[in-house]
Amino acid sequence: MKKTTVTLTSLPPFEEFCAQIRPLWDSRILTNMGTQHEAFRAALEQYLEVPHAVPFTNGHLALEAALRALRLPAGVEVVTTPFTFVSTVHAIVRCGFVPVFCDVREEDGTLDPALSESLLTERTAAVLPVHVYGNVCDVERIGAFAARNGLKVLYDAAHVFGVRLHGESAARFGDASVFSFHATKVFSTVEGGAVCTADGTLLQALEDEKNFGIRDEEHCAAVGGNAKLSELQAAMGLCNLRHLEEEIGLRKACAAHYAARLAGRTELRILSPRPGVEGNGAYLPVVFGTQALRDTVFARLAAADILARKYFYPLVPDLECYAGTPFAAAARVPVARSLAARVLCLPLFAGLPADEVDRICDIVLTAARS
Ligand SMILES: *Cc1c(COP(=O)(O)O)cnc(C)c1O
Repeated sequence: MKKTTVTLTSLPPFEEFCAQIRPLWDSRILTNMGTQHEAFRAALEQYLEVPHAVPFTNGHLALEAALRALRLPAGVEVVTTPFTFVSTVHAIVRCGFVPVFCDVREEDGTLDPALSESLLTERTAAVLPVHVYGNVCDVERIGAFAARNGLKVLYDAAHVFGVRLHGESAARFGDASVFSFHATKVFSTVEGGAVCTADGTLLQALEDEKNFGIRDEEHCAAVGGNAKLSELQAAMGLCNLRHLEEEIGLRKACAAHYAARLAGRTELRILSPRPGVEGNGAYLPVVFGTQALRDTVFARLAAADILARKYFYPLVPDLECYAGTPFAAAARVPVARSLAARVLCLPLFAGLPADEVDRICDIVLTAARS
């Protein structure tokens, strides 16, 4: 039997993509901010309701570019969450900054703003929270905290493309927000990403980061890298954007089916978007009462050719690449560690059949009862 994977990439109709890229065979301009790239940038700015969106070749390089573009002093501390994909923390470390781990809230896994003041030192320069699983952080309290302490705020918004908080686009919070358009995300350009900001100075620094700092043929004003989104990636983005509403609708219908089947259980709970958040159906994270139950469910699903994902597990500071670092040793994050040990993302994607959701829920509920 065919395996059911945790996610399955949606594609636009083949003919639509062919028509979109047909002009490239005439222009032979395949990258360097061509017509597809510029149309994609404009479409992003309109859809996300932001003054500036800067496309990048992937979300990780967008994160690194945004961190560098903030022009923080060398070696400063960045308060972040351990409950994230490795990319967030790798970006901080690879830019030469020191991650300081703040614990998360039990109810939704986002950074706990009540805890972050105690983590501040005279070297703290920025906060890098993550909107987790399509849920939005407590942006009001994080914003107030940052303003009080003179800190920059950069959001890892990889999970929240299309999400709104009280009607406002989730791309609009902080000094900048970083998206990923990886093939496993709700909205994809195969590989891709973007940084959104309202800050014109940041905008120029981001453009420099993605294209060597080259301003024109005879001027190179900054020591930038290369992280451009190609014309083919941008074309895929333009096509997928046309189908995004349908994509999100199908995902949310699937999530609602899971919620109906798994509601009212004491052994497990779904981490759903909090009140006021209009989600995007990106993930179906279930937190079990114990790690043993989570691992049993994972194994039973695997035995039935259903591949769920322990996402985010292990916790980033517990990974071998950070073993022995003072910042990982300093992490006091009991809530995040407990969530990571008990969470399991169940399969969720646009074409997942309802009877497959039922089969998955049957296995989960049988395990929970035994
Ligand atoms: C996917 C993801 C990234 C990295 O994005 P890529 O496009 O894969 O480089 C960063 N942070 C989070 C939370 C992610 O889910």
